[in-house]
Amino acid sequence: MLTIAVSKGRIFEEALPLLSEAGIQPTDDPKTSRKLILDTTRGDVKLVIIRATDVPTFVEYGAADLGIAGKDVLLEHGAESLYEPLDLKIAGCRLMTAMHKDKPNISGRVRVATKYVKTARLYFASKGIQAEIIKLYGSMELAPLVGLADCIVDLVDTGNTLKANDLEPRELITEISSRLVVNKAAMKMKHQAIQTLINQFEITLAKR
Ligand code: AMP
Repeated sequence: MLTIAVSKGRIFEEALPLLSEAGIQPTDDPKTSRKLILDTTRGDVKLVIIRATDVPTFVEYGAADLGIAGKDVLLEHGAESLYEPLDLKIAGCRLMTAMHKDKPNISGRVRVATKYVKTARLYFASKGIQAEIIKLYGSMELAPLVGLADCIVDLVDTGNTLKANDLEPRELITEISSRLVVNKAAMKMKHQAIQTLINQFEITLAKR
């Protein structure tokens, strides 16, 4: 039996065709089902539906053998405890700094609001900028508008969310896409099944 951890939303939507090519289709509609463990058309594969930020944790502890997680989440989690064999090239976006459109670029000390505390700290340290990082769990865009922070670090796709809030992207921290992650013990114990799945994903990705 293989268990794959995925989060609902964009990653799941974009992972579905890849899973489907490997013969894995959920038997319940994940959009309407409240089940957290979904059976699939492959008797030996189950999907567990969890929050995106929990995917590395489930895989690290072996509660799921594999997972699909954004690179943003993996960077923040610290992915040394996981194998990351494949860039699935789905749910692409950029992790960026953003500021109010009328504000000049950062000079000196800066207050940064983000849910990516660890990644932001590393980034500003690498630039030699003294940053006070404020952890938020959502609506980062609000922080510069109400004087909570000078700058935010967040995912940017079309840039529309920033624009709608009078913010603009400034510096690219890193390009983001979703990755396949594998529990280290499972990679040994279930090597054949997992390697076959990786190969199937690779073939599908190569055709794109
Ligand atoms: P956009 O307005 O298209 O730039 O999208 C930005 C909003 O969507 C932000 O709130 C992001 O956190 C979220 N977002 C964009 N791309 C992704 C992604 N690949 N995975 C998760 N959230 C994303």
